[in-house]
Amino acid sequence: MDKNRNIVIGVDIGTTSTKAVAFGERGKVVSSHAIDYPIVQPHPGWAEQDPDVIFSAVIKSVSAAMKKANIFPHQVKALGFSAAMHSLIALDESGRPLTRCIIWADNRSVMQSERLLKEMNGLAIYKRTGTPIHPMSPLPKLLWMKEEMPELFDKVHKFVSIKEYVLYQLYSQYVVDYSIASATGLFRLDTLDWDIDGLNLLGITRNHLSEPVPTTYMLRGMKKEWAEQMTLDPDIPVIVGASDGVLANVGVGAVLPGEAAITIGTSGAVRTISPVQKTDEKGRTFCYALTENHWVIGGPTNNGGILLRWLRDEFGSPEREVAKKLGIDPYDLLIQYAQNVPAGSEGLLFLPFLSGERAPYWNANARGTFFGISLHHKREHFIRAVMEGVCMSVFSVALAIRDLTGPLSEIRVSGGFAKSPFWRQMLSDMMGKELLVPETHEASALGAAVLALYALGEIHSLETVKEWIHITSHHTPNKNNTSLYLELFYMYERLYHRLKDEFDVIASFQRKG
Ligand code: ADP
Repeated sequence: MDKNRNIVIGVDIGTTSTKAVAFGERGKVVSSHAIDYPIVQPHPGWAEQDPDVIFSAVIKSVSAAMKKANIFPHQVKALGFSAAMHSLIALDESGRPLTRCIIWADNRSVMQSERLLKEMNGLAIYKRTGTPIHPMSPLPKLLWMKEEMPELFDKVHKFVSIKEYVLYQLYSQYVVDYSIASATGLFRLDTLDWDIDGLNLLGITRNHLSEPVPTTYMLRGMKKEWAEQMTLDPDIPVIVGASDGVLANVGVGAVLPGEAAITIGTSGAVRTISPVQKTDEKGRTFCYALTENHWVIGGPTNNGGILLRWLRDEFGSPEREVAKKLGIDPYDLLIQYAQNVPAGSEGLLFLPFLSGERAPYWNANARGTFFGISLHHKREHFIRAVMEGVCMSVFSVALAIRDLTGPLSEIRVSGGFAKSPFWRQMLSDMMGKELLVPETHEASALGAAVLALYALGEIHSLETVKEWIHITSHHTPNKNNTSLYLELFYMYERLYHRLKDEFDVIASFQRKG
């Protein structure tokens, strides 16, 4: 192992695990370690995690990554953080949690979100803050806490996110980077400061929140106890970093205007970087900070790979059995069947809103629909229609982004769906765009490491990362399929709008049980 100071550690505090990745020259992975933790659901629709379990995962994952590659403290140049957005923890005066960490997936504040939107000028709040009004974000969660737990709410000393909690343990300082702050619904994009109107609405002051700092802000002088446990020098520069979403764009190399990163894992997201802030008149997209000169415009969809998983689990038992015998992945078998059907699934269209939808419609009541079913449709048509439906939902988000930023010329994809060349080609055909598959496994951790190097002045532009990322495959759209898909996509949009009222009715039926 090289004895030079050439290691940068990216720590990604995610929803299912914290991953520490040690990167060497040109973003080469030297070692990595992930520690998983659970989501607690004390009531239906709630989603919480234990902040101390996550803090301990940060310490242990860094120390394990150091140990695995036998890295000495003096070899580490810097450490940079990435974290999931939208988390909320209430702390007392001594910095101890009064609540668990309420995460983005928590839906308890549905009613507060609806009121914010309809009665409290939610669109104006979104336009000031860049955060769509949705139960995922801290603003409605705080309103819920104020209304439903007033005694606790009045006792709170600080409201923080998970990254602020970790940094407070390490440095006894309450700081929040512009990126995590810009996803709270309480942070003004124009002044890069807390939104006084939002604070007044909640009856809190800026003292209840951390000090906002640039994402390149550097901390030094870590508490010895934790530095020792991570086998780091306490004076190592620690860069506060940004959110996992915006750093994932850096980590796949989608950093220039017109370049988009599309991730389809369980859910999905489309994001592009703009040099200036942009919000949408119709409230369809988010605008989150990466640096003061890089703004990430994008949208999340609920309906990504979870739909193929649903099909596999609920209807795919024959495929699961055959795949088991052949020793192959059932997804590969399902997708092989889908390939027997032409583009467009011979007139079977699928609206994929099984778990409501976030961008671009932001409609929790939207539901799934197969449209056009006829006797000639076999199970492979349904498989293909589901895969096409996922691509259409991603395409609809990309179109909303395009309205703000201009055309997207290059698409970089990642997430579980990208394992399938057929599904990737389908997305390229649907969007009518070149599609690249970058070879990155831990995009957000790499993004955090790159941002740390940028903060230290070791690289002069985030673009440098593009030279480090190897492209493993490349898809060019099939023009015939693109024009067919475009027609079907217009029908998809029309169907959504025509069914919107009926979705409200069926969703209320489902709520009544
Ligand atoms: P997460 O978002 O939970 O981290 P992943 O990125 O692993 O999850 O994505 C999981 C999804 O990826 C699955 O629901 C499935 O739709 C899709 N997927 C997984 N394996 C394959 C495969 N071999 N081919 C196509 N799609 C796959």
